[in-house]
Amino acid sequence: MTTLKEITSEMADATPEDIAFVEKAYECSKKAHEGKKRYSGEPYFIHPAATAKVLAEYGMDATTIAAGLLHDAVEDGCISREEVEKEFGKELLFIVDGVTKLGTHKYHGAERHAESLRRLLVATASDIRVLIVKLADRKHNMQTLGHVPEHKRRRIALETLEIYAPIADRLGMGKMKSMLEDLAFPFVDPDAAAHAAEVRKLKKRETESGLAQVQKELLAELKKKEFAILRSDIRMKGLWSLHQKLRRKDDDINLIHDIAALRFVVPTIEDCYTTLGTIHAIYKPLPGEFKDYIAFPKPNGYQSLHTTVVTPEAGIVEIQIRTEEMHRRAMFGIASHMSYKQLGKGVEKLRKGIQKSRFSTLSFSWVRSLIPSLMKISKKEGAARGVTKAPPWLAELADAHTDIAGSEEFVEGLKEDFFSHRVFVFTPKGDVIDLPAASTPVDFAYAIHSDLGDHIQGAKVNGKLVSFDTELGNGEVVEIIRRDSAHPSPKWLDIAKTSLARRHIRVALGMTEPDKPSRRHKRTWFKKK
Ligand code: MN
Repeated sequence: MTTLKEITSEMADATPEDIAFVEKAYECSKKAHEGKKRYSGEPYFIHPAATAKVLAEYGMDATTIAAGLLHDAVEDGCISREEVEKEFGKELLFIVDGVTKLGTHKYHGAERHAESLRRLLVATASDIRVLIVKLADRKHNMQTLGHVPEHKRRRIALETLEIYAPIADRLGMGKMKSMLEDLAFPFVDPDAAAHAAEVRKLKKRETESGLAQVQKELLAELKKKEFAILRSDIRMKGLWSLHQKLRRKDDDINLIHDIAALRFVVPTIEDCYTTLGTIHAIYKPLPGEFKDYIAFPKPNGYQSLHTTVVTPEAGIVEIQIRTEEMHRRAMFGIASHMSYKQLGKGVEKLRKGIQKSRFSTLSFSWVRSLIPSLMKISKKEGAARGVTKAPPWLAELADAHTDIAGSEEFVEGLKEDFFSHRVFVFTPKGDVIDLPAASTPVDFAYAIHSDLGDHIQGAKVNGKLVSFDTELGNGEVVEIIRRDSAHPSPKWLDIAKTSLARRHIRVALGMTEPDKPSRRHKRTWFKKK
């Protein structure tokens, strides 16, 4: 059982009020969940307590940690929303409500909907802290997944692997991402997971002593140059990402050079390049394998130098070089920018929202790509349609990035923005369908199947009958009532927003010849790694 002390001891720079606030939430949650059990038979309270500890480790503020403690209490009916608001304030209730809302969107394994669901989750989390609590919650649930009834395990594990781990990745939370992946992988594909573990173990045994030797030699050489190396370690590749790579390389372990990698953490960016120079002077680098993610960060903000060299001691070795700041960001991503371990006395500012300056150096282009469409929706009659307006943290990001232009990333961003003018709706079964903003039930029907589109009798949104020209809003459940005798009318050409629907309507009206089968389900938004 996670003790209160274990949580508060992580809150290094917290005020006595912060500590007292978390303590109060701890006691309240403990009482609220009293008598309830986890599947393991343990007291339910171990779960919110463990979630809160993760949040404290990530340096989150007292409100978020307390929200972690109470995140299941309202939904499980242990305490009322009114009581939570009265005791802990609107802000905490807001986060708890957000986490509950995210939990209602479930992934049922249709891969073509995965990207839409990821985007939906991010777009509906009105506060980045909601996503971070959700990820911490999921981490503990995955650690205890073995106790969950078997028929539920796979769905939860698959959702973790295909929805939550990629979200953690997009938010730059590398540590969370690989942890979620490796916890979920064995439940999704036990044989492949066992195989990857075996490959990793073999490789480790094979290269361990050689790698340590290379490390020693390089450290000695760098020391000669009176060079401050803060840290050096050997990092093993995660099982899931190893599995992905094995698949790409036809299971040829000899083509994978980064199962074990040497990592150097140095004080400054300049030191990164000097270290690289020293390494290349000793070991010959493999041509084409050098990557400068410092000058060209990954879209999720990741920065490092990667090089692959040939060593007599350990064969081909990948080496990663970064500063402490880059290392921290690679681990914690967006969370590290909100961390009050970092902000120190800026806690008060943090409470009021995200500190703008912290984000000016950030490049979460994926998150940013959600901004224009959300802003657009919010300015239109979005509120009237019940569409969430741009969450404040997204708006902050948008403000911080108005001056970005001219870079390769900007062009990338434009491409993504094109896809972000979308609306995400659900089928009655819970599948996500993504459509252009302002789409109608007619577009929805044709997106599912042309036969359904050709026979729309009526449409329901969230269980209520609506007219065909109703603009669909994010998160709505859309149901089409089909009837054989129903047929498209010329008016539908004005109602439909997608070219796909218009094309089918024209065919049904006898205006054109049918064309080749649509490739709409093969569309992918992001290059697979
Ligand atoms: Mn939970």
